[in-house]
Amino acid sequence: MTTSSESDDVGENWAGTYRYAARKVVTVNSVDEVANLVAAGGQVRALGTRHSFNDLADTSGTLIDLGALRFEPTIDESRQRVTVPAGMTYGHLGRILEERGWALANLGSLPHISVGGACATGTHGSGSHSQNLSAAVCAVELVVGRGGQLTLEEDDPRFPGGVVALGALGIATKITLRIEPTYQVRQDVFTDMAWSDLAKLDSIMDSSYSVSLFTRWNGIVDQVWLKSRVRDNNAEPARPSEGATPAANKVMSPASDELDNTTIQGGIPGSWNERLPHFRFDETPSNGNEIQSEYFVAREDGLAALRTLEPLARDFAPHLLISELRTVAADNLWLSPAYERDSLTIHFTWKNQPKAIRQLLPKIEEALKPFKARPHWGKWFAADGTEIAALYDQLPEFIALAHQLDPDGQFRNDYLSRVLGLEQRT
Ligand SMILES: Cc1cc2nc3c(=O)[nH]c(=O)nc-3n(C[C@H](O)[C@H](O)[C@H](O)COP(=O)(O)OP(=O)(O)OC[C@H]3O[C@@H](n4cnc5c(N)ncnc54)[C@H](O)[C@@H]3O)c2cc1C
Repeated sequence: MTTSSESDDVGENWAGTYRYAARKVVTVNSVDEVANLVAAGGQVRALGTRHSFNDLADTSGTLIDLGALRFEPTIDESRQRVTVPAGMTYGHLGRILEERGWALANLGSLPHISVGGACATGTHGSGSHSQNLSAAVCAVELVVGRGGQLTLEEDDPRFPGGVVALGALGIATKITLRIEPTYQVRQDVFTDMAWSDLAKLDSIMDSSYSVSLFTRWNGIVDQVWLKSRVRDNNAEPARPSEGATPAANKVMSPASDELDNTTIQGGIPGSWNERLPHFRFDETPSNGNEIQSEYFVAREDGLAALRTLEPLARDFAPHLLISELRTVAADNLWLSPAYERDSLTIHFTWKNQPKAIRQLLPKIEEALKPFKARPHWGKWFAADGTEIAALYDQLPEFIALAHQLDPDGQFRNDYLSRVLGLEQRT
């Protein structure tokens, strides 16, 4: 068996917009190696596929890269579950599940992210009845502080704190996810929907299995992407609103007409894993060289939140590549941004203009304050610990759990101290 390798060239996040400050990165091949690294003491953090935009994954010590910790996923057909290595990407997992006739209920916009990294941050796709990816977790095996090992199952009272855990409780090595029999999806794109049609936001978002609205806040919704589960007759989905025009071009990219990296559109049915993500697994997703921010508001506040942001668009639109609106069904995971709240998510892909974005975010968050908007953990936001604490009723329970599972504070970092008030050890 190959053993771990280490490098002091810790590199950057995927977008190249954040350089990790960790001392080294160790690529591990086994759970024992993870346990030994943690048992050795000192600061450690799990690293997924580096798709977060902020310092969440970072540490003053060692980053543990789980991408090489591989084993064949095991499918429990009778219980409809799959157990996977936490560092596996959804793209690889999707191919394996599809080959064996199984599927996940939903996926995020890109399949390149790791299961561990996505579940740690409450990463989501879209769908009025689809919860975020973490809500598919039914067990997680962790290496906790001092190198101990623990499996959290759904009947454990700590489980709701142990999934969207921001890497604060330990390193997830194996994750068990709910699966269902495979299904087909078609993707249809509509263009140029009048902004005023957003008055019917709820019915638009309910019009397909998964709906994404793309806008540059310039008076129209540039594109509406409908992902529908295909029944026997592959029926065309209903127009999401009167004003939306079926796309003439069969290949549309949300942020740039020049990119051809999107999953197949034009109503051509395909397997769930090749239609639910926006981006193809064999291509580079999105633009790169970008910054992202995203806010979750309650579904019932969605339209009012958009109306509140409209007057600010003059300031933020010049810095925007694209905005996306999606829906996420409520769950019960303590730190999930959709905790006990069906949500509308308001996403911004920004140009790589950090200074301008840093100035804009407090204004956007001030405007969204009446809606108790919860920021995406892996993207840029300005809220501090006091503001975050007001958004998560279960935060004290989570902090207590972090103290219990990580008594020496090995997994803490600047982000957790700033955002959750988890003090760093001195
Ligand atoms: C182009 C692009 C598109 C995106 N689209 C979406 C989208 O559609 N929906 C959405 O919600 N988000 C989206 N994101 C954000 C992204 O999904 C999240 O930031 C996600 O956390 C990235 O996963 P990762 O594997 O890269 O994790 P990393 O960024 O490497 O790590 C994120 C966090 O997870 C922790 N972590 C990673 N692995 C483990 C583990 N095994 N055990 C414990 N903790 C772990 C890390 O310590 C860190 O705290 C997008 C990002 C990009 C770049």
